[in-house]
Amino acid sequence: MSVDNAFMTLSGAVDADVRRDERLSRHTTYRIGGPAALFVAAHSYAALSRTLAVLEAEGVEWVILGKGSNLLVADDGYDGCVILLDGQFARHTISDDATMTAGAGASLAQLVNVALKAGLSGLEPCVGIPGTLGGAVSMNAGTRREWIGERVRDVVVLRPGEGMHRYGGGEIEWGYRSTSLPTSEIILEATLSLEPSTSQAIAENMESRLALRRERQPLGVPSCGSVFRNPPDHSVGALIESCGLKGVSCGGAQISPEHANFIVNRGGATATDVITLIARAHDAVLERYGIDLACEVKLLGFGA
Ligand SMILES: Cc1cc2nc3c(=O)[nH]c(=O)nc-3n(C[C@H](O)[C@H](O)[C@H](O)COP(=O)(O)OP(=O)(O)OC[C@H]3O[C@@H](n4cnc5c(N)ncnc54)[C@H](O)[C@@H]3O)c2cc1C
Repeated sequence: MSVDNAFMTLSGAVDADVRRDERLSRHTTYRIGGPAALFVAAHSYAALSRTLAVLEAEGVEWVILGKGSNLLVADDGYDGCVILLDGQFARHTISDDATMTAGAGASLAQLVNVALKAGLSGLEPCVGIPGTLGGAVSMNAGTRREWIGERVRDVVVLRPGEGMHRYGGGEIEWGYRSTSLPTSEIILEATLSLEPSTSQAIAENMESRLALRRERQPLGVPSCGSVFRNPPDHSVGALIESCGLKGVSCGGAQISPEHANFIVNRGGATATDVITLIARAHDAVLERYGIDLACEVKLLGFGA
């Protein structure tokens, strides 16, 4: 594999920012992560297609990055190419039939705000969630019982080596932080079905959700949100807390004293610090309750 060849072929030749050894701590809400050997911020579909073709020819692995708000990157970084969808992928439009179509790179917070201003209801469960539309669709972001998939009318994906494909929202299985979309496909765009309402009703709904977040979650400290998925009929936060781990630290990382399913970066935390706490919480809950917690946070650069 040759990252050098891919870098030289792509630099200046495509509508993209192409960099070597880009520190991923700049691209994750954790503010943690070593360098990506290659980093491409693709501004157009043509740039993305060309990038994928070059990476394929050079045998370079790749991954799509949104805003890195559900991602823990290894301290040694990632030896493949991180692709960010920018430019044309960050656009959105609203149609007369109360649908919103947006590119995968659009900021979810911005779309939530646009819907609020347009008096369109349906994105309230996404208020306060950082990230892009692509990341939200890929993760089926939302709460434990309401998620963005319920609003997805269709999704356009790129099947590398094949081309674009459009899924109807109903063709996709949506579950709690899961979808049936293959991880090999790149989400390019989604159309969301919303409902006319009043901006005041939407704002009130959002404000009550934000108030709950402010009350229960450690906001303003770098994190990835919830570390584990809640098992059926349990709250992970309560399980970890009952094992006496709330507030426990490792290096610069800490199991949040406010919410035990958040591991926060108190300053200078490494990915190893976070992984140590993840393992500690996982093992304690397994030993005490026999529950094998599954990570919600995605890992990058930790090997297979
Ligand atoms: C303070 C805080 C609060 C949070 N609260 C919530 C919450 O209430 N509910 C919730 O669901 N999540 C929450 N999260 C987690 C996170 O914000 C969501 O999972 C979000 O949807 C991730 O979007 P992203 O763009 O940052 O994706 P990233 O973290 O960059 O990527 C996440 C995954 O999606 C994949 N991906 C991203 N874009 C694409 C694409 N275009 N095509 C294919 N795959 C793609 C990536 O490869 C990766 O596997 C929170 C995070 C933080 C920091």
